[in-house]
Amino acid sequence: MLKLYRGVKKGNQTMPEKYCEDGLWTKQVGSGDDPEPHKKYGWMRTISNHIHFRNEQDKFIYNTTAFLSFSLSRSIALNFIAGTKNRSFDPSVRESADAFLFTCSFEDSGLQEIGDGVYTFQYTCNYGRGSTDPDFYSFVGSFCRCNICENFPGYRHKLLLIDVEEFLSGVQDDFPEEYLKASWDKEWLLLPADPMMDPSGIGFQSKIAIADFWAVEFYKYTS
Ligand SMILES: [Zn+2]
Repeated sequence: MLKLYRGVKKGNQTMPEKYCEDGLWTKQVGSGDDPEPHKKYGWMRTISNHIHFRNEQDKFIYNTTAFLSFSLSRSIALNFIAGTKNRSFDPSVRESADAFLFTCSFEDSGLQEIGDGVYTFQYTCNYGRGSTDPDFYSFVGSFCRCNICENFPGYRHKLLLIDVEEFLSGVQDDFPEEYLKASWDKEWLLLPADPMMDPSGIGFQSKIAIADFWAVEFYKYTS
C-alpha cells in the first residue's frame, strides 16, 4: 500500500476547502497558461519547476502547475500546515478547520509503473460519498455530479503519479537543488489525467475527483 499525504491551509490557491464539492483542484484552473504545460515546457521542466524555481518564468510555471504535491511522510505533510512560521495546531472538527490533511491510499496492485518513478492509477469516482461519509457532506456538493461519469457511466478516472526523487535520480547533476528538495520533502506529484469533456477543450481536467481512495482530516491553529 502506497500512502501519500498533502497538508494544505484553507484559502490556498487550490481551494482545498471545496474538496467535498468537486474534489481536489490544481492551481492550473483559470491560470491562463497553456492547457498542456507538459507539451509547452516539457515534462522535465514542469516537474523541476514545481519543486524549485530560479526566475520569473519558472515561477509562472510553478504558480500554474497542473500537479498536486504530496509527501510519503505524514509528518512532513503536517509541517506544511505548520508553515514557515511553525504555527502549532490541533485536530479539529470540520466546521472550524484552518487546514486540511488529505491522504491518498493506493493498493500496490493498482499502480502501473510506466517509467522511472512514474506510475499510472485508475479509479472510480464516488460523488455519492457525501451521503455516506459526514466528512464529505455539503449542501452544494449534494448537487454536484461527476461531469465525466454522468455522460459515460463506468468511466475509470486516471492519475499520473511521480516519485520525484526517483524521477530525478538519473539527472541529479543537472537538477541538484530540485533533487535535494524533493528528497527532503519525500515529494510525489499527482497529475489528474482525465480528458476535457468540452469538445474544444485541450489537455486534462484539473482535479482529482471525489473517490474512496482519499480521505481528509481537519486541523485548527492554536498559535
Ligand atoms: Zn467520475
